[in-house]
Amino acid sequence: MELKESKQEVRESVARARAAGKTIGFVPTMGALHDGHKSLIAASAADCRYTVVSIFVNPTQFGPGEDFERYPRGLGRDLRAAEDAGADLVFAPSVEEIYPLGFTTFLEVGELGEVLCGASRPGHFRGVATVVAKLLNIVRPDGLYLGRKDAQQAIILTRMIRDLDFDVEVRVLPTVREPDGLAMSSRNRYLSARQRTSASLLSAALSSAGELFEGKERDVKRLLAAARNVLGQEKELVVEYLEARDAESLAEVSRVECKTLLALAARIGETRLIDNVLLDPETGSFDE
Ligand code: AMP
Repeated sequence: MELKESKQEVRESVARARAAGKTIGFVPTMGALHDGHKSLIAASAADCRYTVVSIFVNPTQFGPGEDFERYPRGLGRDLRAAEDAGADLVFAPSVEEIYPLGFTTFLEVGELGEVLCGASRPGHFRGVATVVAKLLNIVRPDGLYLGRKDAQQAIILTRMIRDLDFDVEVRVLPTVREPDGLAMSSRNRYLSARQRTSASLLSAALSSAGELFEGKERDVKRLLAAARNVLGQEKELVVEYLEARDAESLAEVSRVECKTLLALAARIGETRLIDNVLLDPETGSFDE
């Protein structure tokens, strides 16, 4: 596996792989790799003959007072994890490589970026869309691999790719969880042992709504009440949002009649965690 820090070197390596007839898969990450990231890398490696993983803590998607400085970083460990999962190249650029002096152009993502996480993190998805557009232009992959853990991000990036005619196929893969249901996240390591126990209530709350849905409940108020009931068991857990939205347009829904995202953000102490499940009225079941 190769490690590259410059855009030029990435372009050269990818061009060599392409000249050898290989298809290119791409997994953008912020590092601190866990089994969720590794599932995306493995999916890319299974579909494509050359997998590129980027590791870049993108400053433009962090707001003032957020955790950009203290976001976990550890390139040595990440390189081993990426290689282990099947990556062929890791692109780990500096901030200056991605945002050289004079950088001024950003992508606007519109209303999709103003709800759910966008409501409390203004500019977050503008930063995400801008960096992923840049990375797609650098890597030029055939396939882009994203996690449903960050469902709103996947929806926004899928729309960006369609709206701006990026020539890449998107695959969105299921959330990888800890044994007690907690969605794997680089931010889980901020949690104390006690907070870590409370954190499992996020997925428990969504599952209880999901099970009610599987029992044929379609009324969103009742589904959300079931989830809220579970979340209410822990006082230290402060819910930022708990909402049901159309899984493509992110429009609010009052009954589950199309694929619907049940999405949740909560704070435990200083740590903000997100999770979601997807309710599918066609199958009558939910995906964690
Ligand atoms: P991040 O490093 O947090 O920016 O995440 C990089 C990619 O990994 C994104 O597409 C995430 O949605 C995905 N991802 C993060 N956590 C998980 C998880 N627990 N399961 C599946 N994918 C994940």
